Amino acid sequence: MAVMSEPEAVEGREAEAAVRERSASGPHELCVLMKLGEIVLKGSNRSLFERRLHNNIRAAARGLSPIKLSRRGSGVVFVRMPDASDAEVAELAERMSNVMGVVWVHLVRRVPKDLDTVTRAAVEAMADRSGSFAVRARRRDKRFPLTSSQLAGHVGAAVVEAYGLPVNLKRPQNTVSIEVDKDEVFVFTDGIPGQGGLPVGMSGRALVLMSGGIDSPVAAHRMMRRGLKVDFLHFSGMPFTGPESIYKAYSLVRQLDRYQVGSRLFVVPFGKAQQQLKTSGADRLQVIAQRRLMLKTAEALADDLNAEALITGDALGQVSSQTMTNLTALDDAVDLPILRPLIGMDKTEIMDQARRMGTLAISELPDEDCCTLLTPRQAETAAKIPDLRQIEKRLDAEELAEYLLTGKKLHRPSFLGEEAPEKV
Ligand code: ATP
Ligand code: MG
Repeated sequence: MAVMSEPEAVEGREAEAAVRERSASGPHELCVLMKLGEIVLKGSNRSLFERRLHNNIRAAARGLSPIKLSRRGSGVVFVRMPDASDAEVAELAERMSNVMGVVWVHLVRRVPKDLDTVTRAAVEAMADRSGSFAVRARRRDKRFPLTSSQLAGHVGAAVVEAYGLPVNLKRPQNTVSIEVDKDEVFVFTDGIPGQGGLPVGMSGRALVLMSGGIDSPVAAHRMMRRGLKVDFLHFSGMPFTGPESIYKAYSLVRQLDRYQVGSRLFVVPFGKAQQQLKTSGADRLQVIAQRRLMLKTAEALADDLNAEALITGDALGQVSSQTMTNLTALDDAVDLPILRPLIGMDKTEIMDQARRMGTLAISELPDEDCCTLLTPRQAETAAKIPDLRQIEKRLDAEELAEYLLTGKKLHRPSFLGEEAPEKV
């Protein structure tokens, strides 16, 4: 047996501890290796980004066995769960694939730097596989005595000998990856694609206007992915509708909580305010006037929450309230910027993403949306701002928005499902 490169540079007690730890957890410990995306480009801010990411990783692993996290060169994070079963480590990998900023997650076998052991682990990883394969080797520790291509060649030959599978370096059906680090070697096959983007919290905080529909959850995901930590605000038609839309909003936020951990959902009963708008003669402007009042209420809440922007699921031209003129009339209602990440997307694209995120089925459940309550037969497609301001003056909309907030209920839908919805 050829002992390849014992960690000469790891000195004294550190080396001893590493070896002891290794033998305690066995030579083929299953771990999680993550590849980062844009963080790698972040020059002098990188340590801030990494610290945020590491905290988010720890939060996402909540409730599982304790983890040990370390960084491996630029753009690689390694997580061990020394006391866990393989099934629990697989659950950890699944959770890590939802942490924003991570591009790939690999379940890896961690083996000592011994060529025979590495080869055996690679051969085991290919058991039950069929079709062509390639071995990709890389060395983060350049002192390893074999070059990457020598290592790949050696392991590849052993896989051919064991299973007789054809090698295809250009378009393999299976890939065995071998990554040589300072103290150990990682062996793995496929990975789980991550979300990409930036760590949640890196870009600040924003408030999502969350209906029970398809679009707003997708909008929320897109902005979390750009590093915003978000809170959610849902307007129900209560007391004129049932609580179904609240249950939907709750389930949607619970699903989205996978991507940021620690979500807050505020629910505001909106039915009476809608009726007030109607009696003050909103008529064809009812829908836009309602939306402006929602935005004003959201702005007041955002102020309390230190949120720096509002997020909606508007897409240009999708419904009559989303014409260019009407969107401009909505912008006029508040000072805070309104982020609309879906503005240029087709409904089919939005639905595809909702399906991938697991929110589509929830959004498609039936409910009584507050927006369809009191909807005029003919909605205005080119709302005039002075007309809207006139209606709001009659109502004292700013004061109404503040008043609406006094009826808000806070929920904390967790992806771990540990908290039941509060009674509303
Ligand atoms: P969605 O699928 O997100 O409901 P939509 O295509 O049905 O969107 P609208 O009903 O016009 O479009 O709503 C546009 C946006 O306004 C929503 O994406 C959401 O951000 C906000 N919004 C609408 N209704 C509500 C509500 N009841 N509570 C909170 N926000 C809402
Ligand atoms: Mg809607």
